[in-house]
Amino acid sequence: MTGPTPLTLASIRRAPKAVLHDHLDGGLRPATVLELAAGCGYDQLPATDADALGRWFRDAADSGSLERYLETFAHTVAVMQTPEGLRRVAREAAEDLAADGVVYAEVRFAPEQHLERGLTLDEVVEHTLAGFREGEEIAAAAGNPIRMTCLLTAMRHAARSLEIAELAVRFRPRGVGGFDIAGAEAGYPPTRHLDAFEYMRANNAHFTIHAGEAFGLPSIHEALAFCGCDRLGHGVRITDDIFDGAAAAATPAPEGTTVPDHSGLRLGLVANYVRDKRIPLELCPSSNVQTGAVPSLDKHPFDLLARLRFRVTVNTDNRLMSDTDMSREMLKLVETFGYGWSDLERFTINAMKSAFIPFPDRLRLIDEVIKPGYAVLIG
Ligand SMILES: [Zn+2]
Repeated sequence: MTGPTPLTLASIRRAPKAVLHDHLDGGLRPATVLELAAGCGYDQLPATDADALGRWFRDAADSGSLERYLETFAHTVAVMQTPEGLRRVAREAAEDLAADGVVYAEVRFAPEQHLERGLTLDEVVEHTLAGFREGEEIAAAAGNPIRMTCLLTAMRHAARSLEIAELAVRFRPRGVGGFDIAGAEAGYPPTRHLDAFEYMRANNAHFTIHAGEAFGLPSIHEALAFCGCDRLGHGVRITDDIFDGAAAAATPAPEGTTVPDHSGLRLGLVANYVRDKRIPLELCPSSNVQTGAVPSLDKHPFDLLARLRFRVTVNTDNRLMSDTDMSREMLKLVETFGYGWSDLERFTINAMKSAFIPFPDRLRLIDEVIKPGYAVLIG
């Protein structure tokens, strides 16, 4: 026994990590954006050197509105319209995640946004998967093995979700683990895409839904009760359904609409269902602050939800826009909430248990990679 390794950015990088919520078009290297733009004749970038461009993305994303945050994607998506662009971005995503100590990653993107230069939906997915496989090989050769799973996203303001769900099922044998909807949440409730979710369920396929980020509890309730999602993308607004025990007593909620928790808080029926069913919450601390879903990191409900034993997971969302990676997200949580290695291990196992790959594969990563990795760090 040597005692625990001090928690630093460098030591957290060595810890095995799993990420479930990471957008391919939100994780490009600034230098790659510049090179791909030059290669495909895209001349709308707001900066001409990598440092300035990186700063621009972060500042634009810091605006506090989800709509402005989403604007930054016009530039990244613009350089991901060719086989070379898609393949390179996917390959580098795998390499960058692996170099950060991520051993399992689910990276999502919306194929329908990559058709501007004539690729078909199938071709878009094929080139992206080829990039992931190349990145896995390079990472393994560098001593950082990673398993990449691709999720296909449909844009919630558009009308192609059934087509994208079919695409996800068709590519399941080749490394697509599931389906998702993303984009502006207000005004585009999950039930707008009910046929796509019914298709996924009819095909015994997994999906997550961005819900409870910009919009509140009704969105989460629809995603669960009507759509039947396996996981919640963000879901931070589940706290709208968690009540202070004393306050609840002062202003009684209608009978039967809350249940007591051992902590003295009361959970509404939606929050209670999410916890009972172990519905994973794909929380993205930095991004949740940037989009205004929560006011600041120290006010992030991550810790409340962790203490109430919701199945919380740590995620990056958009590494470029948030200038982050898994290690930095974990370090921020450590600094804000005082977590230790065993907490980080629990969050990682939560993520791995919730992954859209077969059960034995999840167990193997937990037993052979994650637990031994943390055991060394715990000392
Ligand atoms: Zn997201």
